[in-house]
Amino acid sequence: MKTTCLFAPERTYLLDGAMGSMLQERGLPPGRPPETMTLEKPETVEAIHRAYLDAGADLIQTNTFGGNRAALSRHGLADKISEVNQRGAEIALRVAGPHGLVAGSLGPTGELLAPLGGLDPDEAEAIYYEQCQILKQTGLQLVNIETMNDLAELKAAVLAARSCRLQVMASATLMENGYTLTGASPEVIIATLEGLGVNVAGLNCGLGPAELKPFLVRMANATSLPLIVQPNAGLPQMRDGKTVYPLSAEEFSRQMRVLIEEARPQIVGGCCGTNPEHIKHLRKVIDKLPPSPQPKKKQQPERVLIAGRGQAVWWAGKWEEHHSLLVRPYDRKNINLDGETIDLFSLIETLKKEKNTILRLDFNAWESKADEVKNFIQDLQLYYTGPCSVRGGQPEILTGFFRYYLGRPLYEGERSSLPDPIRKCIDQYLPGTVFCSHDLDS
Ligand SMILES: [Zn+2]
Repeated sequence: MKTTCLFAPERTYLLDGAMGSMLQERGLPPGRPPETMTLEKPETVEAIHRAYLDAGADLIQTNTFGGNRAALSRHGLADKISEVNQRGAEIALRVAGPHGLVAGSLGPTGELLAPLGGLDPDEAEAIYYEQCQILKQTGLQLVNIETMNDLAELKAAVLAARSCRLQVMASATLMENGYTLTGASPEVIIATLEGLGVNVAGLNCGLGPAELKPFLVRMANATSLPLIVQPNAGLPQMRDGKTVYPLSAEEFSRQMRVLIEEARPQIVGGCCGTNPEHIKHLRKVIDKLPPSPQPKKKQQPERVLIAGRGQAVWWAGKWEEHHSLLVRPYDRKNINLDGETIDLFSLIETLKKEKNTILRLDFNAWESKADEVKNFIQDLQLYYTGPCSVRGGQPEILTGFFRYYLGRPLYEGERSSLPDPIRKCIDQYLPGTVFCSHDLDS
């Protein structure tokens, strides 16, 4: 399914800035979730949206960042989920008016997903699906999935939003070392988001514009997707027991100009510590950009990035450029390697000996139940963080792979000659899968 993107390709769009800190300045007690203000002081939420539009924002975001069931439950507010999201969206839509752009904000559940944590990805997807359904029913067409630390959670949220037929912007959050909390680099993030078929991909929170710039440039070099960036007003500092963000509106917009010139994001805004002043100054920067800025060109147009959950590899369609290892898993524990049956532990040991390996999985030998593939992939990706290539003829078995695989895989086969059920499962779970030949067969 292809929908026309809400964003015109030749324009740079300005998003709003922070919501939570603005609400705190206007009476939200520390520790209370910002979403409660939607119910208790809707006029305050409305005034903040209006302040951002007056500052020149093209696009505002609903006050629903923590509006998923898991996050609300921690504050005993699970029974308010419909009101929080419905009213949150209605306020933003009303303020934006019939021609304004509104994105539904989706933040983390606050729990770490399997394979690294305990929350099942199916449960996480159901949590986001519930929130997306409520937002969709208000007439929203677009969501902004943001501040994601965990690739598994990012995937769960994207799948939920796509099954509600919402357009998707999605951003991950990096630490100063350039990795997410779960070890994904800018290349892994962008490859994963391309694999998931989002409309817009990028980075938000965590760092200021100057620190985010090199990471966003790396993303721009690796993708032709439109990019989004929402930096903080600098790196947070502690002053008198309070978190403060050091960048003034002038300094923020100065750093943003450099970032925009080098990485060419199409959608820019602010995260923690930014306010309507920052957005107003950013408006001036955008208005001074050349009339139709050329989007940043991918550096190696003949190559695409494929990825596992922690490593990305450039792929040009040539198996001879890579180390690869072909295995035929029988079930969760037993794997055929060169005619011998080994266990997952031995497979991981073998993989560790070579760098930049692509692990080729042939599911034609799978003997166990189809739903066991989920456990196999989760066990595998807990220890092996590089990219996988997959083949197999059974859609039920491949569904387990495409639904739970973290990253962007190869599929060994021609897209044009795919049986319908397999095409459907790829389109549903990883429409940006890269197709390749398997002529390296031994
Ligand atoms: Zn933030």
